[in-house]
This record gives sequence, C-alpha cells and structure tokens, in this order.
Amino acid sequence: MTIVVTGGAGYIGSHMVLALLDAGEDVTVIDNLSTGFRWAVPDGVRFIHGDIGDEALLKRALSTGDCEAIIHFAGSIVVPDSVADPLGYYLNNTVKTRGLIAAAVAAGVPHFIFSSTAAVYGIQDEMPVFETARLDPISPYGTSKLMSELMLRDTAAAHDITYAALRYFNVAGADPQGRSGQSSPRATHLIKVAAQAALGDRPYLEIFGRDYPTPDGTCIRDYIHVTDLIAAHMAALNYLRAGGRSDVFNCGYGKGYSVLEVISAVERATNHPLVVRDGPPRPGDAPMLVAGAKKVRERLGWAPEHEDLDEIVASALHWENRLKTKLAVS
Ligand code: UDP
Repeated sequence: MTIVVTGGAGYIGSHMVLALLDAGEDVTVIDNLSTGFRWAVPDGVRFIHGDIGDEALLKRALSTGDCEAIIHFAGSIVVPDSVADPLGYYLNNTVKTRGLIAAAVAAGVPHFIFSSTAAVYGIQDEMPVFETARLDPISPYGTSKLMSELMLRDTAAAHDITYAALRYFNVAGADPQGRSGQSSPRATHLIKVAAQAALGDRPYLEIFGRDYPTPDGTCIRDYIHVTDLIAAHMAALNYLRAGGRSDVFNCGYGKGYSVLEVISAVERATNHPLVVRDGPPRPGDAPMLVAGAKKVRERLGWAPEHEDLDEIVASALHWENRLKTKLAVS
C-alpha cells in the first residue's frame, strides 16, 4: 500500500515524506513544482510531476488501487494573495480539492488527511480557540480551506472514507537533521522572512501593523515546529488506520507570540539587532490566533517535542544558512 502526498515537494509536504520514509512507509508524491522543488523529494519515492487539477493524472495515479491514504498539502497559502486573487484561491484550494476527494472516492481510498488552517476561525473573542468555535474566516484563503473541510465532512458521511482535517496554526522551523526546510525565495511567513533578513538576504523585516488590540500592538500567533506538525499527521494517519472517526484537529501549542517577540527571538539567536521597518496592517490578518490544543493531544496522543520558540527560530536560521550553501553550489 502507498501513501499519496500531494504537494510533497513543498515545505510541509517534504517533511511529511521524510517522516513517512523514516517510518518505513511506501510514498507517492504528486506535485506540480509551482512552489516546490524536485530536490526536496528523496530518492526512493515515486514522483508524479503534475497538477492535482488534472483529473486524468489523478485517475492514473490512483488506478493501481493500492493507495491507503491521501495526505493533501498542495495548495496556495498566502493570506494577502488570496485577498487579491480570491478566484485563484478557490480554484487551487477548493475546486481542485473537490476533484481530489472525488478521485479518492472513485478509487476507494480509505483515508484522507487534509491541510487546513487556523484561518478558518477569523477573528474570535475568546483565545485560545477550540475546534468547536464559530467558523468565520476573514480571508478567501480561510474560506477556501473551510469549504474543503465541509466537502470532506459531507463526503465522509456519504461514502466509505474517513478523514482528518488538521487546522495548522503558524508552521515554522525545519527538519532537525537538515534534510528539508522552507525553501521558497518568495516566502512571506514571518519566521522565514525574519531569518532571511537576519542573514542579509533581505534588507529589512517589515512589521505589518502596530495598532492591533494586543499587549504590544503587533499580531499574536501560535508558532508550531514543522516536526511537531508532521508528528500530528503521523498520529492522525495511525488514528484513521485504527478505525478512528473523521474529525478536525487544531495543530498548535496553545501559546502565542507577538511579531515583536519573534523578532527578539531572532535577535537572541543571532546576537545581532534585526533591521525592521513599520508598515501598514496586512489585509486579512487577525490580531490573535492561539490554538486550543487539547483535542489533538487527547484524541491523537500527540506529544510535541519542539515547543520552544528559540528552538524553532534557531532551526529556521540553520536551514536558511544551509539553503544558501545549497543554492550556491547548485
Ligand atoms: N508579519 C510581519 N511581517 C512579515 C510577515 C508577517 O509583520 O514580513 C506578521 C503578519 O502580519 C502576522 C504574523 O506576522 O501578524 C504572521 O504572519 P505569517 O504571514 O507568518 O502567517 P499567517 O498568520 O498570515 O498565516
């Protein structure tokens, strides 16, 4: 049996592939390499270069009938881009996911794990936010993922497939063995951008708004180490395999850090002040998002091991350095 990983050449997907290989699983990657890298897919993995919107390709990929689960990472992930291009986001994240779910049902794939997002919650009065909170995304990105969650819910009720939708908070850091990390030069996520600024690959870090209703005025997020996030996926896979019922799980630690606190962590790690500039608030940003993370621990038995922000930041910096060397020699 194989596990199909869509977006397996991308940041989070490539870490999933490594973890599956480490666990002795057979892995097939489908990736269109729009933001991923062929080199991020290790030898020994079946690689299908193509788009999940290609129905014929999906049919071929699943035709052998030996796919035990699809872990679906492929998609677009930049909140402000989704505000500028909602239809592009609904196509990539919703329409194509619908096609993938349909292909899974047609091929009799028993399990589906979906990369969802904390952006489905929008702005909430209560923090941390639990899975039972009102779902009210404030960006097309969040809505595009929520619609996919709803399709999965309804499909699982009608067909013989179980799913886990994992609502990621802010994923950062890199494989502790240095095998993968966030590699896109155009990345927009805070810790990645801060690492690039710290290493001189960007002239400065822009702080998107200082007037939010938070203690220091900058937005608060729950940063989760990619290794812990992937451990939650492994736990979800084993849960579904053991007959666990379909469900939704927050993936975060339950502790939030402001943009200024992240900047301080970077400065501690490099022992150097970071060049920062104030910018306007970014469209679609919620002031605060912190995970209520009981369910993932209790139901999936997830036990994170890399919760320290300093470790996450150090790991991101380490990868950024490594990436520079990698790109310089290739
Ligand atoms: N942010 C920032 N400067 C940057 C990138 C991000 O101030 O260059 C802020 C952003 O406004 C948000 C937080 O950092 O409050 C996390 O943003 P990110 O893009 O990493 O993730 P998101 O929460 O949007 O998924």
